[in-house]
Amino acid sequence: EHYNVEQKIQEFIANIEARNPNEPEFLQAVKEVASTVIPFIATRKEYNGMKLLERMAEPERTIIFRVPWVDDAGEIQVNRGFRIQMNSAIGPYKGGIRFHPTVNLSVLKFLAFEQTFKNSLTTLPMGGGKGGADFDPQGKSNMEVMRFCQAFMTEMCKYIGPETDVPAGDIGVGAREVGYLFGQYKKIRNEFTGVLTGKGLAYGGSLIRPEATGYGVVYFCEQMLRTIGQEIKGKTFVVSGFGNVAWGVVKKVNELGGKVLTISGPDGYVYDEDGISGDKVDYLLQLRASGNNRAEDFVKKFPSAKFYAGKRPWDVKCDVAIPAATQNELFLEDAQALVANGVLCITEAANMPSTLDAINYFLDSKVLFSPGKASNAGGVATSGLEMTQNSIRLNWSSEEVDARLKEIMIGIHKACRDYGKEEDGYVNYVKGANIAGFVKVAEAMLAQGVV
Ligand code: GLU
Repeated sequence: EHYNVEQKIQEFIANIEARNPNEPEFLQAVKEVASTVIPFIATRKEYNGMKLLERMAEPERTIIFRVPWVDDAGEIQVNRGFRIQMNSAIGPYKGGIRFHPTVNLSVLKFLAFEQTFKNSLTTLPMGGGKGGADFDPQGKSNMEVMRFCQAFMTEMCKYIGPETDVPAGDIGVGAREVGYLFGQYKKIRNEFTGVLTGKGLAYGGSLIRPEATGYGVVYFCEQMLRTIGQEIKGKTFVVSGFGNVAWGVVKKVNELGGKVLTISGPDGYVYDEDGISGDKVDYLLQLRASGNNRAEDFVKKFPSAKFYAGKRPWDVKCDVAIPAATQNELFLEDAQALVANGVLCITEAANMPSTLDAINYFLDSKVLFSPGKASNAGGVATSGLEMTQNSIRLNWSSEEVDARLKEIMIGIHKACRDYGKEEDGYVNYVKGANIAGFVKVAEAMLAQGVV
């Protein structure tokens, strides 16, 4: 019977690969899910033959469009825009927009696929989607960013809506971009609704949304540590990334008494043995707001910090590692270095930062490891809370939003434990997150027929 399940996984993956050539990131995300969900499906009679995972791995709709715009020099520029509407079984499509030169169909499909499971884990009624463009906001003027956002939304507004598909931010799309996107949607559709989340506070945004992804990651990490009788206080953290998510992580780790040793940009990492806290966190925010993501500039201001050009921080000894930059930033050799240095816990903050080899190494080593789809779900969960506030036309206090966020993260942790606990007591959060996320979507799809 075991052989049978292994064979089913192989056949499933071979089929996905044949249907989606040249999509390595998408294949990577599907492999991770298939290896844990297919054995589970085999134990559930009512799921057999329903092609649930096959259906989930095929987007309901993929929209690819031209985004023409005029730069400050008067030259016409052409970018490619995407919206992947992956799965609407449990709610309107929901997921961010990424503006980055690495954006392509494979990257957005992996993100939309992950998003479906992540959104299911939040327990809120949100389906999965993702969008973006191969546009690089770095080095663009404010007006260029605005014109690009307007051009992007001019096409995307045909496919989204508060009851259809609710985009938000992701890499390269922050408060400024969400504002421009929302303004253009409102102008074209002549409708003021909660069609995007991550909005500014003045026009329907939610308190705590900017902090939510990072805070949620740390709340989740706190729960993981608790399973081995440990706490955040007094622990050392190695964090990668330099954006919104890393910022929220660093703030909350400090608040709970942990010490952050590193942050990183695309150019290298910063190490500060005194800890990255206080003024340093504020400065991080300031750099971020100015669109500067060069870690090197951080070191100039704080001499206790050292800058390691062109390096990732994973060989720094720490208790907890939090990859918070982007996909495939933590490889097998990094996992080996972390484990050799005695890491207790890896809590992913980015989407798919660890390669499959790295994940398997962590799991085989029996250190605590949580996949981003579980531990970074606080961002989209708080987007869900923003949607609720927009629908009831009320704004909740920070305390209320933060309390709900924390409760949701504790709930996700429990779901992962319930489905991921192994015979020896070790919690396999990858298995737990995939199965828990799958079950709700599967139940909805079964109930709704072959659609
Ligand atoms: N881009 C974020 C994520 O990866 C947030 C999505 C949202 O708020 O819709 O989950």
